[in-house]
Amino acid sequence: MFEQNKNSIEAAKSFDTNCPLNKFRDEFEFPEVPEECQEKDVLYFAGHSLGLMPKRVRTVMSDELDAWGKYGVEGHFMGKKPWLPYHENITESFSRLVGGKTTEVVAMNSLTVNLHLMLTSFYRPTKNKYKILIENNTFPSDQYAVDSQARFHGYNPEEAVVELKPRQGEMTVRQEDLLAQIDELGDELALVMLGNCNYLSGQCFDMEAITNKGHEHGAMVGFNLAHGAGNLLLDLHKWNVDFAVWCSYKYLNSGPGGMAGAFVHEKHHNDPTIPRYEGWWGNNKSNRFEMKRRFDPIASVEAWQLSNPPIFQLASLRASMEIFDEATMPAIRKKGDHLTSYLEWLLTENCGSFVKVQTPAFREDKQVRGSMLSIKMTKDPKQLVESFKNKGVICDFREPDILRISPAPLYNSYEDVYRLVQIIKEFS
Ligand SMILES: *Cc1c(COP(=O)(O)O)cnc(C)c1O
Repeated sequence: MFEQNKNSIEAAKSFDTNCPLNKFRDEFEFPEVPEECQEKDVLYFAGHSLGLMPKRVRTVMSDELDAWGKYGVEGHFMGKKPWLPYHENITESFSRLVGGKTTEVVAMNSLTVNLHLMLTSFYRPTKNKYKILIENNTFPSDQYAVDSQARFHGYNPEEAVVELKPRQGEMTVRQEDLLAQIDELGDELALVMLGNCNYLSGQCFDMEAITNKGHEHGAMVGFNLAHGAGNLLLDLHKWNVDFAVWCSYKYLNSGPGGMAGAFVHEKHHNDPTIPRYEGWWGNNKSNRFEMKRRFDPIASVEAWQLSNPPIFQLASLRASMEIFDEATMPAIRKKGDHLTSYLEWLLTENCGSFVKVQTPAFREDKQVRGSMLSIKMTKDPKQLVESFKNKGVICDFREPDILRISPAPLYNSYEDVYRLVQIIKEFS
């Protein structure tokens, strides 16, 4: 894939010089390295856990502190960006990000909360149609959410919640097996709810094919895009996905506990048969402050909003989304594919005897992964992770032997990737 002479620091540096997104690295603050560390710069590869802080967050946050100080409650209507419609400052960016209409996306709450709100509306089991299909290695919060929803409706999760089945010895699930499993569940299937990419393997599922297959059997299809938003190219409206949720503190760099997003396809707006938990922020804006006795829903996904949102979290999200708008997702994914492939190639060239990449290999014709590589270490994974501490490397380790490494296209350089692989190589 890469020519042999790319296995050098000079080649890495030259990729950086020629990279159109290289300039965005300066937009971010990098963590300091601990004193005992042998290196002076950090090698940050944990963007799938918590994205780095965009420098401009300080400015937008201080603007809102100033507005609060200066206007008090009047800040809802005054200042550069009044708070009352503040969440609308995110809408267009989210719409571009996930391929939804502006009426289909909203920034609200946090991720698992939004997942429950969506399950309340879109998991409506009946006696013979009650099963939920999830990943085999789901993020625990998703598992707990669907289990508790099944129980809430009077079903035993052991029976109602069905997991994908990878083949013996395989970590990822083959597309044809996934679709076959949906067929097998047939009429009993009420909901398909998958994370995309999978948080552990980095595998990206074909969302359009899954949505079509689920719909063939009358099931609802939703995705948790915690690892998809800001990472994958998404076209939710066109793919006819019923709902999606995502967080913004991973690939989207909005800060710890940052606000989540939600997508509800417009075909479900204004459908009075869909149950929903409701709060005053979902009420029509024109009469919200008349404080009427009966809920009058906004005719969009905004009807799912409950509370007036935390402005400081929205402010940092706004700053981070500006960067995504400037860089654009197609360019981010393009660099991501090249940078991640470079990492994979360097690992295979230099550490192939004890490192095995679990994430599907890049494909030109189909999106099968994002920017995270999940690697299995056949040699002392814990010791390697221990040794990272003195080298300034930040990535993450999952028991018993999985390392997740994400070169983030907005702030990681080719040189970062090269240096990381040298550190892993030295460890051998
Ligand atoms: C990160 C992540 C979560 C975290 O949930 P919060 O509600 O934001 O704490 C949940 N699900 C998946 C798939 C994740 O990757």
